[in-house]
Amino acid sequence: AVCVVGSINMDITVSTSKMPKQGETVLGEKYRTYPGGKGANQAVAAARLGSDVTMIGAVGDDVFGKHLLTHLQQEGIQMQGVEVLGGVSTGIANIIMMNQDNRIIVAPGANQHVTPEMIEKKKHIIQNSDIVLLQQEIPMRTIQYVIELAYESGVKVVLNPAPFQPLSKSLLEKVTYITPNEIEAEAINITQQNVRIQRKTIITLGKSGVQFVNNNGEKKLVPAFLVPVKDTTGAGDTFNGAFVSQIAKGASLHHAISYANAAAALSVTKIGAQTGMPSEVEVEEFLNN
Ligand code: ADP
Repeated sequence: AVCVVGSINMDITVSTSKMPKQGETVLGEKYRTYPGGKGANQAVAAARLGSDVTMIGAVGDDVFGKHLLTHLQQEGIQMQGVEVLGGVSTGIANIIMMNQDNRIIVAPGANQHVTPEMIEKKKHIIQNSDIVLLQQEIPMRTIQYVIELAYESGVKVVLNPAPFQPLSKSLLEKVTYITPNEIEAEAINITQQNVRIQRKTIITLGKSGVQFVNNNGEKKLVPAFLVPVKDTTGAGDTFNGAFVSQIAKGASLHHAISYANAAAALSVTKIGAQTGMPSEVEVEEFLNN
């Protein structure tokens, strides 16, 4: 079983052909809401690929929160670890889209209230999982707490260090795999880390694929699939959810990476983060063709 400890957001998008200047109001075009948050996105990716997923996180006691709980349940995610908090708002990402010039403001809301104290009450969920998947849209002290708890309980941990925040070496030592993209890998200064940490680092390189270190300590590149790209939002989230779903099933590192590379390639052929996430059948068909 997979446990995802992370953020749950509603993405609120407005497209416009003109960015408002300071003090200016413009009439936009389309308005839409999409379920989002790296935690929820990665949970959806893993659930669609057949994993038994339990989420730990929080939403506010508002319409977005209610909607997101129902939505994630419908995706087959077990939500008993998600709290509905009174007096705080559900996390939102306010996205202004103008051609390629996206501007985003995230208001974390309930995600900021996912504290070690909250996790302590739900320890058993983590301890009964095969693997825990984390991102960095909840407080860093919570991430530290979960990594230490999983480590002491012999549960594998995958840390997707996005968005980037500084991480201590001792914490990196306790994760099973860390999955930065190119920019995050540079921020972590992966090339300056010790061999043990380098060996557990899987770097996603967008359309260039995925770089990892194999069992013999050799750097390997898994090239990305050549696909018609529509929207790369959620590619990293699909990769992480898919990777963890495969590791949970006992797949080898190389197989899990190749599979996740295929799932992420499929996700960029469709618009939206969660909308584009493939099912198990879709990935199998893609890999057999
Ligand atoms: P993030 O979205 O977190 O920045 P990346 O851009 O590195 O992450 O993408 C994650 C993974 O998604 C890549 O390693 C690759 O497997 C897949 N991917 C991303 N962009 C493309 C693309 N243009 N074509 C095929 N696969 C892609």
